[in-house]
Amino acid sequence: MEQLAINGGIPVRNTYLSYGKQSIDDKDIETVTKVLRGDYLTTGPNVKAFEDKVAKYVGAKYAVVVCNGTAALHAACFAAGIKDGDEVLVTPMTFAASSNCVLYCGGKPIFVDIDPETYNIDPEKIEEKITDKTKAIISVDFTGQAADMDKIRCIAEKYNLIIIEDAAHALGSEYKGNKIGSLAHMTEFSFHPVKPITTAEGGMIVTNDEKLYERLSLFRTHGITRDKALMSHEEGPWYYEQIDLGYNYRITDIQCALGSSQMGKLDSFIKRRREIVQTYNKAFKELNDYITVPYEAEYSNSGWHIYIVKFNLDKFKVGRKEIFEALQAENIGVNVHYIPVYLHPYYQKLGYKKGLCPEAEKLYKCMLTLPLFPKMSNNDVEDVINAVKKVVMYYGK
Ligand SMILES: *Cc1c(COP(=O)(O)O)cnc(C)c1O
Repeated sequence: MEQLAINGGIPVRNTYLSYGKQSIDDKDIETVTKVLRGDYLTTGPNVKAFEDKVAKYVGAKYAVVVCNGTAALHAACFAAGIKDGDEVLVTPMTFAASSNCVLYCGGKPIFVDIDPETYNIDPEKIEEKITDKTKAIISVDFTGQAADMDKIRCIAEKYNLIIIEDAAHALGSEYKGNKIGSLAHMTEFSFHPVKPITTAEGGMIVTNDEKLYERLSLFRTHGITRDKALMSHEEGPWYYEQIDLGYNYRITDIQCALGSSQMGKLDSFIKRRREIVQTYNKAFKELNDYITVPYEAEYSNSGWHIYIVKFNLDKFKVGRKEIFEALQAENIGVNVHYIPVYLHPYYQKLGYKKGLCPEAEKLYKCMLTLPLFPKMSNNDVEDVINAVKKVVMYYGK
């Protein structure tokens, strides 16, 4: 058997392969430098142009771009009217931002366990968590796989809840043939470098609701408006009013120009991600006693933000930690997405208990994220496959 790099053997590759990475080309760089030479650095024409581009692509009426995805979620909770004491249902298998946004507004995140196959919020477990304080549901399209929005919408209508879709992983993904972005009351995207497209930092909310759009726009810039229809009175051309408490969550014109340039490549990025996923799935078939590849529901057409495999630890002589460390030593940048949010010390202090969502905790113990990004070469993909096979052969029973 081949000696593992962690035990002094030769690593599968010489250079470290990260789990995710942006794809920036010369056209992106030219687009950005052109803005730097122009008149606008902060809010200029590129902001609206980028909003229009994304809105059109996903099939939504309105878009509000902000400085990051977390700010976008905060804005969505504000627009949804989340206040002290309100309860918001959210999946624990996500990045902490998905529930932190509820806390920012004084609300209480209520965690609903995941479906063990899709890893998304389990629609069958939502209703039992609804009380008369429940105001909204934040569903995450985890890994890029669409959450079962028809079922979620059905429940939301019955109880008059607002749906915020955290689609940070899912720009370009589809649900039942429609792009994610017009299914929930508000849908959030992130443009962090590992996400489907990047503006370095950046985020956006899309919606079809004009009132929500107004609230989101206000929130982005201090709660200040110049819209006569919203102001109490008028004093002259200089006059504006702060009518609510907002933030400075604006994004730069430079970043939005990059975003528009990236949008032109989103479909090709997704095509490449799907290709890599097919190669992984095919290669790992022979290991199916040891690892489980991602399941995709028939209603979802994922853009594949991340690729997660589950290790059948009964079949291994070691635990997930040793497998993780062995793959890192082979120079494969594996990762774990995510630690169930409520297990973090901050949430534990708020009173959330271990054991709250057993399926999420079970998944967390045996999951690993393998590298996946459009710029990966076929050799990179082969390296990942060879390293996984090597480690499984070595540690497998
Ligand atoms: C990345 C991410 C966010 C937050 O996005 P930022 O742009 O990094 O603030 C929110 N939710 C999920 C699920 C994410 O992966």
